[in-house]
This record gives sequence, structure tokens and C-alpha cells, in this order.
Amino acid sequence: MSALAAPRLLNGPLEDPVLFLPFAHRRRGMLFDLGDLSALPARDLLKVSHAFVSHTHMDHFIGFDRLLRVHLGRGAVLTLAGPPGFLRHLEGKLAAYSWDLMDRFAEGLRLGAIEVHAERRIACAYDGRRGFAAEAAPREAPFSGVLWEEPALRVEAALLEHSIPCLGFAVSERFRVRVLKTALQAHGLAPGRWLNALKEALYAGAPPETEIAAEREDGKGLRVFALGDLRDTLVRIESGRKIGYITDVIDHPANREAIVRLCRGADRLFIEAAFLDAEAALARRKRHLTARQAGEIAALAGVRSLVVMHLSPRYEGRESEVEAEAQRCFQELRRRLRPAPGAGEPAGPPPSAPDPPRDAGLP
Ligand SMILES: [Zn+2]
Ligand SMILES: [Zn+2]
Repeated sequence: MSALAAPRLLNGPLEDPVLFLPFAHRRRGMLFDLGDLSALPARDLLKVSHAFVSHTHMDHFIGFDRLLRVHLGRGAVLTLAGPPGFLRHLEGKLAAYSWDLMDRFAEGLRLGAIEVHAERRIACAYDGRRGFAAEAAPREAPFSGVLWEEPALRVEAALLEHSIPCLGFAVSERFRVRVLKTALQAHGLAPGRWLNALKEALYAGAPPETEIAAEREDGKGLRVFALGDLRDTLVRIESGRKIGYITDVIDHPANREAIVRLCRGADRLFIEAAFLDAEAALARRKRHLTARQAGEIAALAGVRSLVVMHLSPRYEGRESEVEAEAQRCFQELRRRLRPAPGAGEPAGPPPSAPDPPRDAGLP
């Protein structure tokens, strides 16, 4: 049992990259980038508590309006985060509409926004009932990589270079809770919703004496246990999953280093592969990755699997070619980096990325 359900890309490989990360057994989810959200039904949009925006090019931010509209009048708090300039861009979006009818809603909507810089973060809250006016002056705090943290997981971010500063993200579950079937039977207990309460209590770090009401296997009601007893006898705590999300970055040493640090050991890396490597010069001009570069970065980060996204529309009908190049380069470099059996020798130096071009072509 994990805190998160399977992540899914909303759109096809040639369309806006948007990653939806629903929580397991809860009406909650997170979004990475806010491009075209039309593939996500309102019931899922309503689950979104956090949206992490890599940068505010249109293909990554145009869906904000839909997210905002669905949440209006629901009494929610929506947290958004983005790169330098994000508060200004968000305020620009909010300023585009007239909010005089907001008092017709029974409930309001609060937006919490975080603008991420290399070493500091600026937070500001906006109140829907007051036309999304800032509730107070923005607050600044040091930033050392952790963007959001809660009992079950944390979201880290790194400032990367595209034609403008762009954020990469990694989500890590703190741990996974595996219920031992045999122990469940030995306790005479039945699986059911009470296991979610057990998991939530563990993720929240509740004290060991916390009472958990468990369903009896014989259907004769509930039996109360101390959380500590169940933790010691009924479940196994395993390491949590990690998911990386990287898009719209140029391949150069500083970006590689930052991505590898952020996504190291991820179970799955979602990464852009805008161009085939045969068009690496174009990729550099446009400040995007090629499929080869995406595969190499994934291998250097030691991720278990990669999913490519955000292919240039020029590859319509040739998507599998781009995908195959990324996976091939990923596997090849992974093999080279793996020490030979018994040798204990480190592999040869990884391929180095070229220096960034001086011209900043439009993405
Ligand atoms: Zn871009
Ligand atoms: Zn883009």
C-alpha cells in the first residue's frame, strides 16, 4: 500500500506534457504542469490540491484557467508553485477576469503560490472572495530544494535552464506500508477500509498508543489495537517510490548535474525528448533535449524506468522512433555504468554534454 497511485500523462507524446499524480485511496492528487487539461475530467481536477509548474510558456500554463474555474466556490485551498517570475504571471492571469460575482458562491477559494529561486522562495496567498487580492505582502524564506513536505511524501525542485529558468521536480513517498497477509489472518482480521486509517496514522507519525479499530474476519464487528502493535506485527515498512518530472531543458553540464541530483534513483522518470539526436543542433538552439540526451540523463541518474514526452510535432507518425532512441541510449549507458561482475571497477567516464550555445532560440 503506497501513498500514491500510478502517475499518468494526460496527453499524447506530441501534445502538452501534463502529469497527474493521484493519491491512493484518497480524493486528492497533484499536477505537474498546467498545459492542456481538457483530458482530465472535473471530478479529477477537483482532487488537485497542488500544481507544480515547470515554467510559464503557454504549453505548460494554459490549463490554469480550467483548474481555477473548476475549483471556484468549492472552499478549497489550491497550492501552486513555479519558477522565478511565477507570482507576476499568476497575478496576470487572475487580473484578466472580473470577480464581482464571487459573493454568489457559498464557499470561497484560496490560492497559495510559491515562487522558487535558486536559494530562496517567495510565498503569497490570494483570496477568491476578495477578487484574488494578495492577502498579505509576499513572504521570503530560504530554499534548499524541498518545495513541499507532508507526512506521506515530499516534493523537491531544482532550478534548471531552458530559454528561461525552468523547474524540474521529484516526488518521494516517505515509505510504503505492506500489509502481511499471513499476519492479518493470524490476528483474525479482514482487509478493509480500516487499513487506510492504519496507513494514514503511520504516515502522520501518530503515537504508538493511537487506537486503530480493525474489522474482524468473522464479521463480528471491530477489535481495537494499539498502532504500535499493528506496526510491529501486521505490516512491513518498505522504501517509498520516487517519481521525477523533467521538461524543457537544454543539455549542458550544470543541468545534467542538477537533474541527476534531483532524480537520483527514481523508480520512474518522465522526461522530455523533443528531438531525435540527428537534430541535436536544433534541440540546442531551441533549448530542449534530444531523445539520446534524455536516455543518458536517465541512466546517469540511475532511474529504473523512463517515459519520454513533449516530442516535437515534426515527429508525428514517428513517435516510436524517438521513444526507441531514448530507451536504447538509456539501456546502453546503464550497461556501461554498471561495474563488470567481480571487477568492482567504475565504468568509463560518462559522455559529457556540450557547452550551451550562446544564442537563445525561442522554444
Ligand atoms: Zn518551454
Ligand atoms: Zn514546452
